[in-house]
Amino acid sequence: MSGQKLYFSKNWNLKEYNIKAYMASGGYEGLRMALKMDPKDIIETLKKANLRGRGGAGFPTGVKWSFMNRNSGKQQYLVVNSDEGEPGTFKDRYIMERDPHQLVEGMIIAGYTLGCTVGYNYIRGELVQAIACMDRAVQEAREAGFLGRNILGSGFDFEIYNHPGAGAYICGEETALIESIEGKKGQPRMKPPFPAAFGVFGMPTTVNNTETVSAVPHIIREGVDEWNKYGSPKAGGTKLYCISGHVKRPGVYELNHNITLKEIIHDVCGGIRDGKQLKAVIPGGASVPVVRANELDFMMDFDDPKRMGTMLGTGAVMVMDETVCMVRSLLNLLRFYHHESCGQCTPCREGTGWLEKVVRRIEEGNATREDVDMLWGVANNIEGNTICALGDAAAWPTKAFVTKFKEEFYDHVEKGRCPFDPIYRREPARTQPGPYFA
Ligand code: SF4
Repeated sequence: MSGQKLYFSKNWNLKEYNIKAYMASGGYEGLRMALKMDPKDIIETLKKANLRGRGGAGFPTGVKWSFMNRNSGKQQYLVVNSDEGEPGTFKDRYIMERDPHQLVEGMIIAGYTLGCTVGYNYIRGELVQAIACMDRAVQEAREAGFLGRNILGSGFDFEIYNHPGAGAYICGEETALIESIEGKKGQPRMKPPFPAAFGVFGMPTTVNNTETVSAVPHIIREGVDEWNKYGSPKAGGTKLYCISGHVKRPGVYELNHNITLKEIIHDVCGGIRDGKQLKAVIPGGASVPVVRANELDFMMDFDDPKRMGTMLGTGAVMVMDETVCMVRSLLNLLRFYHHESCGQCTPCREGTGWLEKVVRRIEEGNATREDVDMLWGVANNIEGNTICALGDAAAWPTKAFVTKFKEEFYDHVEKGRCPFDPIYRREPARTQPGPYFA
């Protein structure tokens, strides 16, 4: 949008994304300023800036950072969660591929504030270009004296390690990610204890999302007042939204938090392609409840979406036009969650499999109305009864799809086929059971 303030994507049109280009636009000034500040003042600055976690939960970053005891006497760790695996989400990879130094600078400031000397950046293994860009950025920062011992003569030592994951969605959950860094199988831990007390190798650890950490240098350098001009009352600054699906101009956009979902779809992305009608939108990544075409008038911050029974999540907007079968869409999501369940808790391990089986039966035209009604109950038995949020991530979309598009589910039952795509019925049914149904 013209006149839009750009923090994260200011340098994305440059041909070279190196440290020279970054420093030419004020890069590492935030670090110089931060190293002269008291860590407590940095935390207060982030609280005033209303910086909220951009990995999906929206937890206030300043508050999270205040949980770390700088004087614990133990080795402390910073972990950045770049394991961007939520279906529909592709914003963090842009930061790492297009302007990685803002993340490097943010990690150094975070390390200084939290009393950490080591930072791990856990990157989704499939993002090979992002891993290469981050490796180069860390090397450049080290050569420029921003990493290593006695950074800029401050007496502060800090080192960054980029750690590629191995492609498991569950490693985006912070404790599974910590297990994975330790070289173990990526499975979520029971909480408490929380990572601030017992994190990587049992030491105090703070885990933050890539976009969240990348925002920190901009806030320090440009100030809280400037940052807050572009937010909503309870969420400061701009946000990266990744829009996919049936819009004319999909992509990653940096926008103010106070923009509505309707404006994003119709003004920013040019509306629905091929003259079709909008049917439904998932506003924040696959785990977030779907909304109907007439429910788009809410601000894309962390609080307003609740009015429509949904969430901002990661800001991954998935747009579906009138040709989309909602049963098949839900089946797609459930197949993913069933496959990615780590198998530790029964409600998630078995429940996601049941949900997938029942929705597949509906899509194939072999279900009854009772099957449709049963979905809500199965989802309810998963929700809130699992170690991590993957169970909820399967339950919430199921409940929303069935509630908001119930007639479409019944229509499949009445017709004994998918009304949107009859060809689908002629495909052979999936014969391979899920990994935990063998
Ligand atoms: Fe594993 Fe699912 Fe339990 Fe999370 S909810 S710990 S993914 S079984």
